[in-house]
Amino acid sequence: MSFMTHPVLRRLSFTLKARHFWPVILLLLACFGSVLFLIALTTRAQDGLEQQREQQAVEGAVRTLAVGVQHDLQDYAKWDDAVRHISMGLQPGWVDDNVVAYLGRIQGYEDIFILNGRDETIYSFRHPQAPAHAAQETLGPAFTRSIDEVRKMPREGSPIEAGFSRQGNRIVTYSTAAIVPLTPKVSIPADHPTFMLVIAHAIDAPTLARITQELRLSTVQLSLAPPEPSSASVALKGTDGTTLGWLAWAPHQPGTRLLRQVAPAIVALGLLSVAAAILIFQNNSRTIEALRQSELRARHHAGHDSLTGLPNRRTLLSQISAHLAAGDDLTLLFMDLDGFKDANDVYGHAAGDLLLKEAAARVRSIAQGELVARAGGDEFAVLLSRDMARDADCICENIIRSFEAPFVIGAYRVTLGISIGCADAADVGPEGQDELMRRADVAMYAAKGDGKNCTRKYAVNLDEGHLLRMKLERDLQASIAGKELYVHYQPIVASDNARIVAVEALVRWRHPEHGDVPPDVFIPIAELSGLINAVGRQVLYQACLAMRETALELAVNISPVQFWDHNLLDDVRHALQETQFPPERLELEITESLLLRRPDKAAQVINRLRELGVRIALDDFGTGYASIGYLQRLKLDRIKIDKAFVAPLSRDARSREMMLSIVALANAFDAEVTAEGVETEEQARIARAAGCTRMQGWHFGRPTSVEELCAALGPEAQSHPA
Ligand code: C2E
Ligand code: MG
Ligand code: MG
Repeated sequence: MSFMTHPVLRRLSFTLKARHFWPVILLLLACFGSVLFLIALTTRAQDGLEQQREQQAVEGAVRTLAVGVQHDLQDYAKWDDAVRHISMGLQPGWVDDNVVAYLGRIQGYEDIFILNGRDETIYSFRHPQAPAHAAQETLGPAFTRSIDEVRKMPREGSPIEAGFSRQGNRIVTYSTAAIVPLTPKVSIPADHPTFMLVIAHAIDAPTLARITQELRLSTVQLSLAPPEPSSASVALKGTDGTTLGWLAWAPHQPGTRLLRQVAPAIVALGLLSVAAAILIFQNNSRTIEALRQSELRARHHAGHDSLTGLPNRRTLLSQISAHLAAGDDLTLLFMDLDGFKDANDVYGHAAGDLLLKEAAARVRSIAQGELVARAGGDEFAVLLSRDMARDADCICENIIRSFEAPFVIGAYRVTLGISIGCADAADVGPEGQDELMRRADVAMYAAKGDGKNCTRKYAVNLDEGHLLRMKLERDLQASIAGKELYVHYQPIVASDNARIVAVEALVRWRHPEHGDVPPDVFIPIAELSGLINAVGRQVLYQACLAMRETALELAVNISPVQFWDHNLLDDVRHALQETQFPPERLELEITESLLLRRPDKAAQVINRLRELGVRIALDDFGTGYASIGYLQRLKLDRIKIDKAFVAPLSRDARSREMMLSIVALANAFDAEVTAEGVETEEQARIARAAGCTRMQGWHFGRPTSVEELCAALGPEAQSHPA
């Protein structure tokens, strides 16, 4: 199995090629992308808000830090006792007990300095022997500048300053204040230098931890580190605005954190949607594929015959028009099987189907590569294009020859012929498909008319026969409507005394233009066109009426078409009632062929007719397929042996034997036998000797008008023996 022939891959490739697949996938991705974009926006906004809150909180804490130091210092600097014990003469012991005890030991200020009027350190908490510039060296330049700032301020205003300063890696928050009296009880002379009290503590890890705790920002981890792109920070600035350092922390990003938590679910959801879309499309594509297949099948069925698998008439016509439009040389062979209908009746429809299949196969094997179609019931067509059109004669001959071998259907060997009509498209024009079909059809009918199992080529003169047929049909219809058909009666005699005991009604049609048209010509036309029922009704009515006053029995022919017509029973009943003709004098002649098709149903119809009181005769016995089985199953009153058996009686011993057998057979089934077509005395003698109880033929009288018949009968036969 090659790579792309794997069914799953094929289906996937079909899915990918599906018209709506990519648009839907793109739409899904666009939706998914929009959702992600919105989530990202929300995340950013949430992170931004949180960062802003943290920033404000830390900035506030930084401000509070300096303010707190100032606040701690101001009460100690503005204090009458401090002026007395520091400015008016430094008493280190007092300082230790009253200032350092609280600020240094309890509040935790690491640096506590006292500066004299020359900014010299005269007291240091941590280093009692500190040098003069210990405070400046410990706390750094920002602090040093603050001393000047404080000195510039008027003493009455209790000068104080606080801020941040840096020395080396140490950043401190400090406060510097002039030591001034709180109350007027103590005063400092104007020329007395101002002493300063300084406190500071380093911003170190414990300080930062305290800030964080006070801020209630458990997630913020402050550090004194230069800011990084991913971190948040607040600058610690000196009083002159220079940056001394940074308080940095990794900002809390609740949006991002949430996104990280839900991201796998979102991605999974997106993948699931795409997978679902693919599945739905695969499913759809499977449905579409099934529909496509069934459409292909439906199209094939619409264009093909289901029995033989051949293209049907529709396909044939469209192929013809395509070739005609392309201006191709084209020859159409139109063929009809000879003897198929009878075989179908005899052997049944299943056998008929097999015959059609085999016939189709034989035609196809000859016309390989050309379009072979089933044009109708037992009609086939071959469309010969281009070069093959020139070989039409040869192909027709081969097709006819291919039908010489009998068709073997189960235990039967059936011989069929094929009549072929051949027409070429030389002058039918680009839209002449119907005309081409008509010509081939006319030619095929000509082949049938010329004895079947042969080929006829279309020629204009053939149209005449065809047109004549159509004209006959129209004229027959008019004659029926004008009740112009009339009936002749042929005598039927009793064999023992040759007296006329019955007549057969035989329809006659005399047309002003066509003259006398024989029933053998117009009855088939009437049967094919459906006019036969009207003909039959008229004959039955006329004959019953004409024979009512005679003592003769009346035989009336019933065509197979009439027999199967569901109005037959009513027609017979109606004619009998209308004419008051006694049913027991009426005999209906049916033919063998109709017994073959649906014999059970035929038996039913026959029984119903018999219930009306009429009798049934089997006409033309011996020409068809009647079997002993049928004779046994059906209740027949009479068998009429066809003239084909009677004619050779005087010269052929075998036909005499046959007649004897038929009579014996009929008698076994309680049927009488009539010999038809008796033309000579000898035939009459043999038939009589064979046991035929009645005879009919020119020897006893030709079909004649009722008047002539009555004249021949003489007065005694004209009235019914009441
Ligand atoms: P059929 O029923 O077998 O009628 C007998 C045919 O044999 C008649 O031909 C008759 O004229 C002819 N015939 C009678 N005796 C002889 C004879 O000694 N020698 C020869 N050669 N022929 C003889 P017709 O009248 O031409 O009828 C032909 C067929 O037309 C009938 O055959 C019947 O099948 C059919 N037909 C005639 N009239 C009607 C009708 O009213 N209805 C139907 N359905 N069929 C009819
Ligand atoms: Mg007859
Ligand atoms: Mg007959």
